[in-house]
Amino acid sequence: MELRLYDTMTKEKRVFTPIDPSNVRMYVCGPTVYDFAHIGNARPVIVFDVLFRLLRHIYGDKHVTYVRNITDVDDKINDRAVRDFPGLPLNEAIRKVTETTANQFQADVAALGCLPPTHQPRATEFVLPRPDGKADMVTLIKQLIARGNAYEAGGEVLFDTQSMPDYGALSGRKLEEQKAGARVAVDVHKKNPADFVLWKLSSENEPGWDSPWGRGRPGWHIECSAMSAAYLGDVFDIHGGGLDLIFPHHENEIAQSRCAHGTSVMANYWMHNGFLQVEGEKMSKSLGNFFTINELLTTDRFGGRKWPGEVLRLAMLKTHYRSPIDWTVSSLEEAFQNIGNWNDALSPHALSNMPGSYALPDEILEAVADDLGFSKVIAQMHQWAKLSKTGDASAAKKLAGTADFLDLGRSGWDKTLQEFLFKTATDNALNSKFDELIAAREDARARKDFKESDRIRDELAAMGVVLKDGRDADGRPVTTWEIAR
Ligand code: AMP
Ligand code: ZN
Repeated sequence: MELRLYDTMTKEKRVFTPIDPSNVRMYVCGPTVYDFAHIGNARPVIVFDVLFRLLRHIYGDKHVTYVRNITDVDDKINDRAVRDFPGLPLNEAIRKVTETTANQFQADVAALGCLPPTHQPRATEFVLPRPDGKADMVTLIKQLIARGNAYEAGGEVLFDTQSMPDYGALSGRKLEEQKAGARVAVDVHKKNPADFVLWKLSSENEPGWDSPWGRGRPGWHIECSAMSAAYLGDVFDIHGGGLDLIFPHHENEIAQSRCAHGTSVMANYWMHNGFLQVEGEKMSKSLGNFFTINELLTTDRFGGRKWPGEVLRLAMLKTHYRSPIDWTVSSLEEAFQNIGNWNDALSPHALSNMPGSYALPDEILEAVADDLGFSKVIAQMHQWAKLSKTGDASAAKKLAGTADFLDLGRSGWDKTLQEFLFKTATDNALNSKFDELIAAREDARARKDFKESDRIRDELAAMGVVLKDGRDADGRPVTTWEIAR
């Protein structure tokens, strides 16, 4: 079996060869914690969770290091802190915003079945040199200045893009193009319009750290260069994130890391997930089609019902990670049905719920190892479900092994899903039982045996079923039932 991954840098699927198979290293850009994460933000989290699981499967659980950072310094965070906690000192207000948002994010993605990464560093802990000697932003910036890749101007430290001959290689943007298109007047202090901020001065009422260039705060890109180096070293295996991060964020991370460390690459594989849109439109608050992960899990705003985390996870994975995904109610309904169907197919087989009980089938490993190819996985799962329903125990085990590997709806870890699955499984059995009892009660009533008919009514009530006596269109008495709420 060969793992092949599409690399944005070389624009081709390549065989994945880790630098060190005893420690495969992956970094994925994490959330900026100022507000609830939206369902688009969930895409990289789910996609790279599957890759993390795959790498662990291939190289061993202890041989993969996955880092996903938390961006807890950003002007959007400051604005939110001032708005939401006007009475508090800024630093305290910022802490409140970032802590509650980060906790919410962890809860949201856990509800989507994502494993916690090995490390989740917070940017603010990597601004200044650290007692443990791990990489930090101030030291990186000093190195860039010392090596002639950065300069101070207009109260900022800027990366000098012209100092790097192959700047722009990831996104394919040439410096000349950027020069021609830029409005130079805005940034007179920059040597080149493409130069970007490593450090900027803070006013008194902005968060800041004392540095050789005055009290200030880091630019966005430098934090990932610092945190990836801190945990994964100067060069590592995989760097991931959404497509929108290719430029400028990842381009600039590459520039900083390579120039500071004097390496020819930062990461060997650059992976990017495609964008998510909702019902065919770009998700935006003004269009009213903006949904947070939390809203989908806990409210009925999208499609009139709460969605189990497992359904959201499957709906996300059914589209290949590099393609755009259209997030629609019907795609969620379909994912819901798939999970229901797989569980139906498995239920007669009395399978163990212990994790690791069933092997990951080779067919699935092969499909996922081909750049996380999912269409084959889903087709295979449907096929095994069909066979499983005809009593094929080995198909059932393969289906279970696949669902467990992907954490897709077998254990029913989501309570909403558990209730739903329990209901569909019991519904079929119960419905016929209820119908029988109701028919018996109607008989009794026809015989005017009210004692018996009341007894049956009570028996049904004890099962949570409420009877409604009425008449049909022709005026004949009919009894319907519903589950008491
Ligand atoms: P942000 O907090 O905006 O930096 O985004 C966090 C992560 O979510 C990044 O990897 C983004 O590329 C990704 N992301 C943001 N919006 C979307 C979207 N609509 N579809 C897919 N990924 C997205
Ligand atoms: Zn980043």
